Amino acid sequence: MVQHLHVTYNDIHNLIRSCTPQIAAEFNPDLLVAIGGGGFFPARVMRTFLREITEHKALQIQAIGLSLYEPVEGTSADVIGQEVIRTQWLGPNAGRLLVGRKNLIVDEVDDTRKTLHYALSELQKDVEEELLTRPESERAALREATKFGIFVVHNKAKGKLAQLPADLPYFAGATVDDVWLDYPWEAMDIEGHDALAAADKKL
Ligand code: 5GP
Repeated sequence: MVQHLHVTYNDIHNLIRSCTPQIAAEFNPDLLVAIGGGGFFPARVMRTFLREITEHKALQIQAIGLSLYEPVEGTSADVIGQEVIRTQWLGPNAGRLLVGRKNLIVDEVDDTRKTLHYALSELQKDVEEELLTRPESERAALREATKFGIFVVHNKAKGKLAQLPADLPYFAGATVDDVWLDYPWEAMDIEGHDALAAADKKL
């Protein structure tokens, strides 16, 4: 049976609070790209702490929607290449939003890593498309100035099905075993959810 771990809003808030000083010091994002729906609440909370630490104005939060498509046995190779499907993306000026900025991709959980890998590679494609519209002499410097980093609330310690570049700034609020995380925004009965979270903590 899959082991469950219930996580409260306060747990998430506090994980983000403890991780944000390191993110501000080592990456200092200019833009947050939240992967919906799990990345929305974490991105909003992180903005509060980043604003406090960096004393900058509130960062813009852009949203993308991705859904993991689980292939069934016998699925052809070209479909496997599209296991992650876009349900929402940045507007027509996606690349322009990203170029020259330090963009922090935010999600709630890194499980197989396929979603993060897809998000990063597609956002990098948007950057390359945008660079083609810029004078050739400026492209290398703009590419250099465009950075990506990743923040997840939880990283599951398990074999991943996709890899991220080894030098990519990567931050996790907590590393957990390969359990199923129950997030508060999925709960119908939030008091009941918090009671289960309290019981999990006693185990
Ligand atoms: P990936 O396998 O691509 O890293 O994660 C895909 C998505 O599956 C995540 O963004 C998340 O929505 C969902 N997911 C993976 N593991 C968990 C989990 O333990 N709990 C919940 N609630 N969702 C999960």
